[in-house]
Amino acid sequence: MRCPRCASSDDRVVDSREIEDGVAVRRRRECLACSYRYTTFERSTSPAFFIEKRSGEREPFERAKVLSGVRSAFKNRPVSDSAIDQLVNEVESAVRSLGLSASSTNIGIEVLDRLRSIDEVAYLRFASVYKDFADANDFAREADLLQKATAPKHHNVTSNLVEET
Ligand SMILES: [Zn+2]
Repeated sequence: MRCPRCASSDDRVVDSREIEDGVAVRRRRECLACSYRYTTFERSTSPAFFIEKRSGEREPFERAKVLSGVRSAFKNRPVSDSAIDQLVNEVESAVRSLGLSASSTNIGIEVLDRLRSIDEVAYLRFASVYKDFADANDFAREADLLQKATAPKHHNVTSNLVEET
């Protein structure tokens, strides 16, 4: 962007940090022509996105919260920060695609869905914390899905035989 002092459009970013829990970014820039330093703020133009809690309260979606939940599930597990970041990005876009709001259950299910295929230990850790927040029924469904995913193959054969009779 143009320097506020000399209007040159060549600048470099000398410092960049997340503010407001990662909702915005503050950048210190330096004009390459006159060395003047100035600050810019950057934020997403996506509409506000809310999470409905079981109590009926709504709160703004906070990526940082999801990230810290996922990070603690992966503690001491062989998973890179960028893989964790990627997972949280996917979860965020999945729940945002639901509309203007989503429930904490939606988030939990999206996270679990991805953890299952990445790391079983992280999956079980997240599940055990998450069950405090999720609806009991959703959690039962989740446990059921995991069992089906890990069930021995002959179960499928049995259900095929049942269908044929
Ligand atoms: Zn300048």
